[in-house]
Amino acid sequence: MADLLGEDFETATSAAQARTTVPVLLPIGPRKEIGVVWERAPNAKPVDPRKLKTIVERFDLPPLPDVSRRFAEWVARYTLSPRGMVLKMMMSAGDVFSPDAPRWGYRLAGPPPARLTPGRKRVLEVASEVGAAGVIWQKSDLANRAGVSYGVIDGLAEAGTFQRVELPRTTPPQPAPDHAPPTLSEGQSYAAHSLCETLNAGGFSVSLIDGVTGSGKTEVYFEAVAEALRLGRQVLIMLPEIALTGQFLSRFERRFGCRPTEWHSSISPGERARSWRAVAEGEARVVAGARSALFLPYRDLGLIVVDEEHDNAFKQEDNVRYHARDMAVVRGSLGKNAVMLASATPSLESVVNAQNGRYRQIVLPQRYSGAQMPELTAIDLRATPPERGRWIAPPLVEAINETLERGQQSLLFLNRRGYAPLTICRKCGHRIECPQCSVTLVEHRHRAEITCHHCGFTLPSPKLCPKCENEGTLVPCGPGVERVAEEVAERWPGVETAILSSDLVPTLKALREVIGRVASGEARIIIGTQLVAKGHHFPLLATVGVVDGDLSLASGDPRAAERTFQLLSQVTGRAGREDGVKGLGLVQTHLPEHPVMQAIVAGDRDEFLRREIEFRREAGMPPFGRLAGVIVSAKTKPEAEHHAKALAVAAPRAEKVAVLGPAEAPLALIRGRYRYRLMVKAAREVDMQAYLREWLTRMPPEKGSLRVVLDVDPYGFM
Ligand code: ADP
Ligand code: ZN
Repeated sequence: MADLLGEDFETATSAAQARTTVPVLLPIGPRKEIGVVWERAPNAKPVDPRKLKTIVERFDLPPLPDVSRRFAEWVARYTLSPRGMVLKMMMSAGDVFSPDAPRWGYRLAGPPPARLTPGRKRVLEVASEVGAAGVIWQKSDLANRAGVSYGVIDGLAEAGTFQRVELPRTTPPQPAPDHAPPTLSEGQSYAAHSLCETLNAGGFSVSLIDGVTGSGKTEVYFEAVAEALRLGRQVLIMLPEIALTGQFLSRFERRFGCRPTEWHSSISPGERARSWRAVAEGEARVVAGARSALFLPYRDLGLIVVDEEHDNAFKQEDNVRYHARDMAVVRGSLGKNAVMLASATPSLESVVNAQNGRYRQIVLPQRYSGAQMPELTAIDLRATPPERGRWIAPPLVEAINETLERGQQSLLFLNRRGYAPLTICRKCGHRIECPQCSVTLVEHRHRAEITCHHCGFTLPSPKLCPKCENEGTLVPCGPGVERVAEEVAERWPGVETAILSSDLVPTLKALREVIGRVASGEARIIIGTQLVAKGHHFPLLATVGVVDGDLSLASGDPRAAERTFQLLSQVTGRAGREDGVKGLGLVQTHLPEHPVMQAIVAGDRDEFLRREIEFRREAGMPPFGRLAGVIVSAKTKPEAEHHAKALAVAAPRAEKVAVLGPAEAPLALIRGRYRYRLMVKAAREVDMQAYLREWLTRMPPEKGSLRVVLDVDPYGFM
């Protein structure tokens, strides 16, 4: 899509003499680009009429709502991204713009054309077959059967042989607010009532639904969804992970009688087109989707729900770097909507906003089923280590044995894909690393490959050490889920297992099948990565073992403690969700005395938050201060380093702003690009965007392979 800040864009605007935001096709040089007619800037210079160009086509689509346009501008300004890039997300509508979108049908309506090419003849033959009289053809169908290009059909329509008729639009099914409402517990009912009241009051508001795992947060916000439907308005429900949507969709269907409109990267271009249009026309009433669903052109959005609001999957790490939870709040404020954030482990940012009264906090302290919260214990790996080459310590083995005896499920959690994260030569000490990234290659035994988790570089698993060329000297070090699964198969032969790891279940369908086998209780031991940590409800799951509780603590990320706390609480929170299934969470750790570990085991969230908030306040870290990351990369190290240093020199001096670095990035090399990082740290009251814009004007130009990326409110520090 054209960057709509350009001159061509202004030209198109004046040519259209329009004030509505209509999608159009524009000539830009020799190309045709999809654009959107914007309002002319009040201070725009007059355009030379000779430079005006004519719009090629005005799409038969509803104009982008005014609030979508303001939202695009806001996001672009905040993230320092080109407006066109944000707009591109908004307009990523699959087949909507393609001329063969199945919107039009073709019916044989006139005599054969004067010029009858072989292609045209074949089309006419197909359309005149027995039983084909009066049929309205889809262009693609007709073209495929006759083996011709779409152009042939167009030609026949132009000649009047075929008539173009509009196909009836299918409206998505309408969720019914009163289809099957649950009987809420007293606490739930109070919470639901309060949310509905907020919604009915109208205007912008943010509510934080803070409820323990299994408290029924979903049922509660479904009541607000029902209320928004009764008000005749649209609803957006954002989920961090599409793997989650399977269970969610069926649950939604049970409550509302039909599925919501889905929106994420795995839907087909045709479905995208239909959904995009249905959202724009207001016919799609409830959208459930990933972060990109926030950019759909809702005609009348009334409610935005962000489920698992603490989840870092809401942060987009390429192109426009935005956090969908934060942008949902912005979208809500621009559209005067109610926003509801739900989590059992709310982000520190949201907790602070609730504490200072900016967000309303709705607390659900108990599990709906009456089940107790799982009992948590740390397993000190120094005192009771697993045997050599094994990863499950004796106390955890015992707990799993007991769980199996009771006929219940156990889950082993390890946030690491593959078999082993590192392969070392016993003879020469060589570590097998990625040639393009500064990380080791991870062995994936089921594929007999070693692969880089950053760039995808892959080799067949080597038989010889690449360095000393000895045979049989390579040893895998450390565990990945595959290796833990191997240990499980050895320890508990014949027991049904399931592995939930994104690379082992590559398609959404396969993933949903595995999740189904877990939810039904068929799989008795589940081995999973963070895929299992999120939102699932597995009724028979009793015991959760965290294989490496220290994994996410050791990183230079200011949110490392928070993230570990959230992850471990969420994973162990999968256990014992039904009454009669006693939940047990066992965390293997080398650091049982670490405050985060202590807080997790004690189940003392408030104490953890209190300490963490204090720490962030003192350190001036978010949400008490602002951060922006600047990542410089280039094909050679000196280039990257030199430029990073030049950027630091060019940084404007400003009060309450510190520019830290440059330093070599922890991931110093990714995809053959050397990386340096700078960090801007500023007080909360500083206008970070203004500062960065000023800096941008002073930065030396990016020559050669150099690239500079700005990351406002960073969540990644590698
Ligand atoms: P959370 O999102 O807080 O972890 P869920 O909304 O997934 O909790 O609820 C946990 C389980 O309890 C789900 O199986 C849900 O269907 C059930 N549940 C919660 N509230 C009710 C209710 N009022 N009536 C029936 N089932 C409920
Ligand atoms: Zn790599």
